[in-house]
Amino acid sequence: MKRSLKQKKQLMRLAWGGSCLLAVGAMAFFAFGKTVGCTTKDLTGFPAAVPVQAEGQPEEKKVYLTFDDGPSPTTEEVLKVLREKEVPATFFVIAAPNNEEYLPMIQQEVQDGHQIALHSASHEYGQIYTSPAAYWADIKQLREKIAPYTDVESIHWLRFPGGSTNTVSHKYGGSGIMKSLKRQAEEKGYHYVDWNVCAGDAVGGHPGAEKVLQNVIEDAKNKDHCVVLKHDTKATKTTAQALPDIIDWFKEQGYTFCRIDEMEQSKDAPQDAES
Ligand code: ZN
Repeated sequence: MKRSLKQKKQLMRLAWGGSCLLAVGAMAFFAFGKTVGCTTKDLTGFPAAVPVQAEGQPEEKKVYLTFDDGPSPTTEEVLKVLREKEVPATFFVIAAPNNEEYLPMIQQEVQDGHQIALHSASHEYGQIYTSPAAYWADIKQLREKIAPYTDVESIHWLRFPGGSTNTVSHKYGGSGIMKSLKRQAEEKGYHYVDWNVCAGDAVGGHPGAEKVLQNVIEDAKNKDHCVVLKHDTKATKTTAQALPDIIDWFKEQGYTFCRIDEMEQSKDAPQDAES
């Protein structure tokens, strides 16, 4: 059944209420000095741009494993597990001072068949969300920094820090900033994606691997399409520890593992993206 782009976009909206919300108000984590990256309190609560099952059509169950805020000292372990389990993932990367030394890991991610997508260079809400110009300058910087390790011209997907409906941006860029950025992203040929399953790994108190696994299962239950938000940072080593069990659980439930760019297989896929 053919759907217009507008209909598809409507399908991409899904109200969401997962475990990430439970941690709203929890303290930001500063485990290793200054932490750059998403903290759970800043993440999108609802609604999120994720794929939903087409009405009336039985569809294959799909899971999209996504890792934000890397590369990091944890990346190697994540890649090892993905290799052993033979499943693909998507990495929404950053290029901040505290992870720059790990950027060459992107090359290994590409070689292993994973998707590289854009998250932010600085991941500093107070900088990137002051204006659309500031946001796109940050994306341009990210593209330049990762260019030695991957073909940036082929990157058409991004994830907004904090999610596409975050409100943390409002105090810097006004209440309309995300709406402007989403429109401009589409104009530039980007797709953006949020999540509907949250590992809850970026919360204070550093949940253990068992808790991370439980969070994922709790959110994923009864969903045919799961976009799983996890983090790839120095502080989220338990995510890597939980990963074998997370993958096994989705396999047992009959899910197919996909990269985010496999979501859009139609002619609507952008031909060109520029920052
Ligand atoms: Zn992030």
